[in-house]
Amino acid sequence: MAQHVLVVEDEPAIAESVAYALRRDGFTTTLACTCAEAEASVRQCDLIVLDLMLPDGSGFDLIGRLRHRAVLTPIIVLSSRDSEADRVAALETGADDYVTKPFSPREVVARVRAVLRRMSTATQDPPIAANSVLKVEEATRRATVSGRSLELTRVEFDLLARLLESPGRVYTRAQLIDNVWGDGFAISDRTVDSHVKSLRRKVGEAGGDPALIETVRGVGYRVTDRPPDDA
Ligand code: CA
Repeated sequence: MAQHVLVVEDEPAIAESVAYALRRDGFTTTLACTCAEAEASVRQCDLIVLDLMLPDGSGFDLIGRLRHRAVLTPIIVLSSRDSEADRVAALETGADDYVTKPFSPREVVARVRAVLRRMSTATQDPPIAANSVLKVEEATRRATVSGRSLELTRVEFDLLARLLESPGRVYTRAQLIDNVWGDGFAISDRTVDSHVKSLRRKVGEAGGDPALIETVRGVGYRVTDRPPDDA
């Protein structure tokens, strides 16, 4: 069955060109011009392509409301802004990826394919990765520290899942970017650092030791494999 993409964009020319490229690539599409229209159509779609500046509100707020309602449909943000802060904010609010305007519709289609592929890999292959304290379940997207739930964004979850595949192994930032965002994605090391920082904060808030996620200076990150009391 064709996968369905909701395109939320108030500029008709952009909305049409993205929808056209998606349909040509085998997707079905619905267009929405406002946050309200998007919220009404969100249940039926497999993925959302979302402009950040909409007539009745900001895309950031829409992402927040959807994630708050536990709508986990993947979201790709169309950002007209050039600031890394906005892109990081979009990812931290719960977006899965972003494309910066101006973009080619084919680039959007490639991102849509990559995100959907990532999602299906995550659900078809449900390993549980863990060290002695931290645990992630790919199938349910649940993460815990000493049995206590962590409320992670998708990026934070994927980062933790990669690190936990081999406790003790050091992952470079470039490896984490390839694994979490996708091969060749132009994302800066600072973006990785800010997601790790937020992940550590959440581990701490849940009563875990933020130092479980170690910085290996000049190299990257790893999760420690030591037992909890071996401090
Ligand atoms: Ca707009």
